[in-house]
Amino acid sequence: MNLHEYQGKEILNSFGVRIQRGIVAQTADEAVAAAKKLTEDTGTGWHVIKAQVHAGGRGKGGGVKLAKNLDQVKEIAGQIIGMDLVTPQTSAEGKRVHQVLVAEDVYYPGDSETSEFYMSVLLNRATGKNMIMYSTEGGMDIEEVAEKTPHLIFTEEIDPATGLLPFQTRKIAFNLGLSGKAFKEMTKFVAALYTAYVESDSSLFEINPVLKTSDDLIMAVDAKVTIDDNALYRRKDYASMRDLREENEIEVEANALGLNYVDLDGNVGCMVNGAGLAMATMDLIKMSGGEPANFLDVGGTADAKRVEEAFRIILKDPNVKAILINIFGGIVRCDRVAQGVVDAYKNMGDAINVPIIVRLQGTNADIAKELIDNSGLDVLSATAFKEAADKVKAVLA
Ligand code: GDP
Ligand code: MN
Repeated sequence: MNLHEYQGKEILNSFGVRIQRGIVAQTADEAVAAAKKLTEDTGTGWHVIKAQVHAGGRGKGGGVKLAKNLDQVKEIAGQIIGMDLVTPQTSAEGKRVHQVLVAEDVYYPGDSETSEFYMSVLLNRATGKNMIMYSTEGGMDIEEVAEKTPHLIFTEEIDPATGLLPFQTRKIAFNLGLSGKAFKEMTKFVAALYTAYVESDSSLFEINPVLKTSDDLIMAVDAKVTIDDNALYRRKDYASMRDLREENEIEVEANALGLNYVDLDGNVGCMVNGAGLAMATMDLIKMSGGEPANFLDVGGTADAKRVEEAFRIILKDPNVKAILINIFGGIVRCDRVAQGVVDAYKNMGDAINVPIIVRLQGTNADIAKELIDNSGLDVLSATAFKEAADKVKAVLA
C-alpha cells in the first residue's frame, strides 16, 4: 500500500526521524491557516506547497512551489488543489490533486550551505537482506544517477541477526562527505530511519531529498513510503491511511471481490486460475500478436458466480477486444468450470460483446469441451496452448 508524502512523514516522525514539518490542507483557506500555524510555531515565514498524489516528480510537473507570504500560499494552493498534475511518473492525463501539504521552508533562501542526499531502505531480494541505498546526488532523478554515475550510489546491507550497527551508520555519514555536527545528526537519522522501516512493516522507504540544513540538521524533505500489504492486518492505524482515490478503480473493485487483478494496457482480457498459469497465458497472448489487457487470477473456485464477476471486471476495460479463459482443472473439475462459463455468459447476455476463447485442461477436459461446443454460444474452445493462441490471433485479425 502506497502512502501520501504527508502520511509517510507522520510515520517517520513517530519513530523519531526528523522531518520537514507540515500540515495537510484540502482548500486554499485551510492552506493559509496551516501556514499561519507553522509560522507561529517556528518558521521563516516562507512555505512550500506540495501536491499530495501518489506519484513522484511532482516538482518537475509544477506540483511543488515556494510561497513567500500568505497571499502566495492562498494563490498557489488554489492553483494546485484541483489540478490534474502531470509528472514523469503519471499518465498524460495526470493525477487529480485533492490536497496539498503546506510545509515550512527549510532551505533558508540564499544559503548555499544546504545539501540534498538520496536515501532509500528496501529489501535486496537477491541476498534476502534489507539494504540502505544512498547517494550524494539527492533531489534529482535517481534512475538517471544510476545510469550516468553509478559510482555515486552506495549500498549498505543489514544483517537481520544484528540489525543496523553503529559502524554502518558512521560509514554512511562518512561516504556522504559529512563531518562534525552534521555527521552525528546523519548517524542518528539513519538509525531512526532503519528502525522506522522495520517497525512499520514497510517494504519501501525512499527519501529524496534528505536535507542537510545550513545549521547542520538532517531531515526528510520528501517521503515515499510503501507498507507491506501482508502486514496491514496488524497495522490497522496504517490501513486507514489508504486513499482509494489514488488507486486504479477496477483493481480496487476486483480486489474487494477477492480477485487478483492487475490492469494493463493491452487488448486481450485474461481469466486464469493460478498466478503461474496467468503469467504463461500473458506470454501466450503476446506470442499470438495480442497484448494482455490484465493479469487476473480467479483463484481456486471458478463457478458461474465467480466467472461472471471476472467477466464484469475484465469488460470494464474498454480496450478489451477478446477474452481468453485458460483454466487448469486440478482440484476444480473442468466440466464445472465450463458450466460456469456457459451459465455466466447466458446470465450476462448482451453485456458480453467480445469473442471468448476457452481453454480447459485437466480433469474432465473432454466433457468440458463438449459442453462449450454444444452450448450454442459464441465461445471458441481449445485444448492445446498453441490452438488457443491461434484462435486469439484469428479473432483479433
Ligand atoms: P518530488 O518532485 O515529487 O520528488 O517532490 P519533493 O518533495 O522531492 O520536492 C521537489 C523539490 O522541491 C525538492 O527536490 C526540493 O529541491 C524542493 N523543495 C522541497 N521542499 C522545499 C523547501 O522547503 N524549500 C525550497 N526552497 N525547496 C524545497
Ligand atoms: Mn522527491
